[in-house]
Amino acid sequence: MKDKNIKAIGLISGGLDSVLAVKLILEQGISVIGVHFITPFMAQPSKVAGIETLPQKHARQLGFELRTIHLGDDYIHLIKNPQWGYGSCMNPCLDCHIFFFQKAKEIMQEEGAHFVFTGEVLEQRPKSQKRMLLHIVEKKSDLEGYLLRPLTAHRLEPTVPEKLGWVNREKLLNFAGRNRKPQIALAKSFGITEYHSPAGGCLLTDPNFCGRLKDLFDRGAADSNSIQMLKVGRHFRLSPYAKLVLGRDERDNRFLAQLALEQDVLLEADGGGSPLSILRGEINDNILSLAASITKRFSRARNSPDIAVRIRHANSTLTTSIIPPILDEGLLESLRIK
Ligand code: SF4
Repeated sequence: MKDKNIKAIGLISGGLDSVLAVKLILEQGISVIGVHFITPFMAQPSKVAGIETLPQKHARQLGFELRTIHLGDDYIHLIKNPQWGYGSCMNPCLDCHIFFFQKAKEIMQEEGAHFVFTGEVLEQRPKSQKRMLLHIVEKKSDLEGYLLRPLTAHRLEPTVPEKLGWVNREKLLNFAGRNRKPQIALAKSFGITEYHSPAGGCLLTDPNFCGRLKDLFDRGAADSNSIQMLKVGRHFRLSPYAKLVLGRDERDNRFLAQLALEQDVLLEADGGGSPLSILRGEINDNILSLAASITKRFSRARNSPDIAVRIRHANSTLTTSIIPPILDEGLLESLRIK
């Protein structure tokens, strides 16, 4: 017998599978609270003022409540110390899923909701969606029997919501594997046309980003601000305790300027066309000179021996200038964080 007020917590990514899962649950007369996690490792700016994100668009179009949750230090700690190890890069997908579902369970309890659901599909991602791994996630997040996967339900044991008749199992699906044509066809039949690509924008699967992240983790300096900085520009390690980041273009320069901390040193070459460089860490005259040389190397003035580089602390308007030595290209490459 179906309760009239069944409520479910759905994990929402803005991708195809999660929006289909919501649609299937809503069609059964169940109210949905969608939870969208924003991690510090997402490629896209999570929100541009005035522009609707895809999860917001899905919530408006389908008619469900959306909660957006920004993950911080506890999530960064998890990425640094995963219990189940990394995937192909620095993506500990199993730990990450367990973390998401633990949070979803907390919300389920706070809201008096009945179960949690997700758009996962059996065997779609070999590293995290094997049958055994789905079960581990369910168990470790303390949601055994209460984690429903509507798109692939017929391939899994019935959950409590199905057994108790809160959800009609007959109306759930049997998708499996990497072929996404059935999902695309179903979305079309629902009139759903906009969704994120399967890659999803998690930078933990990007080798370039992970090289920089590993450098940060090795130095123990992985706060949210430093992680944001990894997303743009050129990065150089000048000493175990000093790092230089240069913008590649005006957009990077603006982004870096917003991230500069009081104690950071900012450098720019005279003559225009210069990156904004941020020098962070323990700084001495040699490091400063090296940072100025690198800044000039990437400016329009790279071949002009007399052009100076301006230097100031982020919290000050006082500027000094130096004319740095020309940099050896071999040394430059040896300092680059890859
Ligand atoms: S790809 Fe990134 S966000 Fe997705 S589960 Fe893996 S670590 Fe988490």
